[in-house]
Amino acid sequence: MEEDHKEEHFTVAVRVRPFVARELEGAAQSGWEIPGPTSIKEASGERMFIYDNVFDQNTSTQILYEEICEKVIWKALQGYNGCIFCYGQTGSGKTFTMQGSRKDNPGIVPLAIDTIFTYIQQTPDKSFLLRCSYLEVYNECVNDLLNPNLLNLQIQEDKQSGVKVAGATETVCTSVNQVNSLLYMGETHKQIASTNFNMRSSRSHTIFRMIIESKNREYGNADLNVATLNLIDLAGSEGANVHGTAASIHRTREMSFINKSLLTLSTVIMRLSDKTNNAPIPYRDSKLTRLLQPSLDGESKVVIICNISPSLDAYEESLSTLKFAQRAKKIKQVIVKNEVIDSKALITKYEAEIKTLQEKLRE
Ligand code: ADP
Ligand code: MG
Repeated sequence: MEEDHKEEHFTVAVRVRPFVARELEGAAQSGWEIPGPTSIKEASGERMFIYDNVFDQNTSTQILYEEICEKVIWKALQGYNGCIFCYGQTGSGKTFTMQGSRKDNPGIVPLAIDTIFTYIQQTPDKSFLLRCSYLEVYNECVNDLLNPNLLNLQIQEDKQSGVKVAGATETVCTSVNQVNSLLYMGETHKQIASTNFNMRSSRSHTIFRMIIESKNREYGNADLNVATLNLIDLAGSEGANVHGTAASIHRTREMSFINKSLLTLSTVIMRLSDKTNNAPIPYRDSKLTRLLQPSLDGESKVVIICNISPSLDAYEESLSTLKFAQRAKKIKQVIVKNEVIDSKALITKYEAEIKTLQEKLRE
């Protein structure tokens, strides 16, 4: 029973996107069948993989969100760290899943923002402070997508606030519109910064981070809860599929850095699932894993969505993604609530904004 309880805090799902126009025009063949809500099978083979969830071509992001992501957001609102990320080769549907496309197909990020603000509105006995940052890990440099002048920021670890990106913009947000304009700003900066946007977006990891502080209004100096929620659109996993071999770390500097972060992530995940190995887990080997450490190291709720193409042409890459998902499945997590007793915490500095937010929401 206890084991079950721990396990459910780590969710690994596979999402198969529909064929896109290019594939339909080329009469692409299906590489995969989905026999049930937790299994996926080779169309022309015997291998079958089982996960917590398998979402087929017809499942909307909204349904996927309600089934596996919303609980992470609820937990973050109660003070537990959360981390949702999309893994998969370029073109497999990571950005579609995380950001969505306009209003008719919202992604996890806008759906999460909606959940957060609805909850705040419905919980007048608590005050909340929401700070957002938008970061990119590109060539093992952490860049601030909210301020294009802030490049190669340093990661700092401190006992009280955990992992911090020194100098990164953290904007206090009091409305859905404000968060949306931050996201828009981040996207614009990303496009301007790159000579080849498509190449860059397939090679960088994008992290939308929300820090949620909350406290009970009724008890003046009650403990604060502080949770960090990371929503991550990972770099394309192609090129990171030869695990740990020198052959996979070659070509350009850029390529090797993607591999470094994704390979380290893969190693960290494998090591977390291997309870028999007590050696230190190599979080420090890449920027991505350093940033994500608090979301992976046993104090957090984690959802990994592994995106694959339906096409037989992408079989090898999809298989590699399914294997990554299999390693991740074994991770067991224990949840620890982040209680902070610190009168200097930011929430006290922002009482005015919080009050305004509450008033706005009641209107
Ligand atoms: P990635 O970010 O992994 O490179 P994208 O999210 O850009 O991939 O998706 C590649 C293409 O497939 C895009 O044109 C996108 O709109 C489309 N697509 C991905 N997932 C879905 C889906 N679930 N339903 C409809 N179209 C999708
Ligand atoms: Mg993308």
